Amino acid sequence: MRTLIWFRNDLRIEDQPALFEAVKAGVDGVLAVYVLTPETWGYHEAAAVKIEFILRNLRCLQEALAALNIPLQVHTVPTYQDCAALITQLCQAHQIKAVYVNEQYEIDERQRDQSVMSKLQEFNILWHSFHSDVLVTPGMILSAKNEPIKVFTPFKKKWLAFCHDFIELKTLPVPHKIKHAFAESNSIPKALPHFVSDIPEDLWPAGAHHAHTLLQKFMTQHIDDYAVARDVPGLDATSHLSPYLAQGVLSVRTVLHHLCRHYEVDVMQLSTLQGVGTWLNELIWREFYKHLVFLFPKICCYQSLRSQHHYWPWNEDKTLFAAWCEGRTGFPLIDAAMRQLNQTGWMHNRLRMNVAMFLSKLLMVDWHWGESYFSKHLVDGDLAANNGGWQWCAGVGTDAAPYFRIFNPTTQSENFDPDGAFIRQFCPELSDFDNKAIHAPFEYNPLLAAQVGYPRPIIDYKAARAKALDLLKHFK
Ligand SMILES: Cc1cc2nc3c(=O)[nH]c(=O)nc-3n(C[C@H](O)[C@H](O)[C@H](O)COP(=O)(O)OP(=O)(O)OC[C@H]3O[C@@H](n4cnc5c(N)ncnc54)[C@H](O)[C@@H]3O)c2cc1C
Repeated sequence: MRTLIWFRNDLRIEDQPALFEAVKAGVDGVLAVYVLTPETWGYHEAAAVKIEFILRNLRCLQEALAALNIPLQVHTVPTYQDCAALITQLCQAHQIKAVYVNEQYEIDERQRDQSVMSKLQEFNILWHSFHSDVLVTPGMILSAKNEPIKVFTPFKKKWLAFCHDFIELKTLPVPHKIKHAFAESNSIPKALPHFVSDIPEDLWPAGAHHAHTLLQKFMTQHIDDYAVARDVPGLDATSHLSPYLAQGVLSVRTVLHHLCRHYEVDVMQLSTLQGVGTWLNELIWREFYKHLVFLFPKICCYQSLRSQHHYWPWNEDKTLFAAWCEGRTGFPLIDAAMRQLNQTGWMHNRLRMNVAMFLSKLLMVDWHWGESYFSKHLVDGDLAANNGGWQWCAGVGTDAAPYFRIFNPTTQSENFDPDGAFIRQFCPELSDFDNKAIHAPFEYNPLLAAQVGYPRPIIDYKAARAKALDLLKHFK
């Protein structure tokens, strides 16, 4: 039988259940396919830096698959709605009898798959789907009343117990080499019109090899101190694995397999270790948000999990929003963070929380605007994590930060960037300020601040906070 493996956000050959099974069944050959859908990606507000990262990873994948005698063809259609015709036509042209995929959990992706599956059925072509984006399949973690768990801590407890009882961390090997290929690979575009970024590509090298190098580096240099160091952007002590996990260049099972082997413990014990346990917590947040997206599709449709928040009195001031986007708020930590995003396609987690709270709770600008800006600029843009992060920060999601929890950007700056190392990197005009003034230039050295052209604060923090609390208490 000939089979087809349709790659999506699973761009690897190791621990790849759909590929593994497609090869097992495909005794007469396997065709690998990736479909570029620029119109849908535009609608989904995918960042150019992310699309370029995908294209580079596809080239690595094509090379790795060629060594297995599996051609990778990259095809372009405008939208998800066009995938059914394309996949069916490829199956018919090559006498392929079964299609293999790993599932995606967002609503548009699920509807796309449903339509492809129905079309294939008309031609008696089989559809086999697997789960590999998360360790525990969404829908498996439910409360005692068999309901979705909307709060992180009980979810985490159940998730750990489920892993302990049911999940084998053994990863799938790279599949064996196919005897011969029945089709040719085609060429992969270097870039797509409308998705051209000016972020240097060497910031985000492609390929599973690089992802493994990052993991090893993080495990040997940073993980033990992660509980504290993760909050200090100047230390750059987090893994930077997010784009690789988002595109499935590395599976979360592979990551946990390496961790457990390194510490010679199981996942449950991992969670009790200093540093490692905190990092595992973040990976569980990732799973939590994916589960929520699967269980509450409205998350994918611009809706807050708590519906009363549709009516929050959002500010529609485009000038304030532009200052936030461009890193011109007059709050150095916020500005440095936004410039990090604009210049690298990535932002440190503590800063994501800070800029998100600043926009949604101090400027009172609709959090959807921020979510959308992040999506358009992040190399690791992922609907579940991005939406979950924004709903948490804006206080509109399940288990979110309460309305009165508003970070003070100056105090956060003093606490988490005490010597201003991070600010100096992204706001070089502030390099000559001392370690105190760098957090509030106009307060401590207004003359120099004006001289170097740094903007005045766009809000008075205390007044903005008081106003926000007053408005938001009615919606709590
Ligand atoms: C407003 C906001 C938006 C965000 N948008 C995204 C996004 O689009 N894509 C994305 O992958 N992460 C997002 N995050 C989560 C987090 O900021 C990034 O995953 C993290 O900064 C990536 O850096 P790292 O790989 O070095 O993380 P590490 O600290 O090394 O964490 C390891 C991995 O755990 C996962 N992770 C870590 N923190 C979280 C979290 N809070 N929620 C979900 N997963 C997490 C990521 O896959 C990450 O690679 C967002 C957070 C906030 C507050």
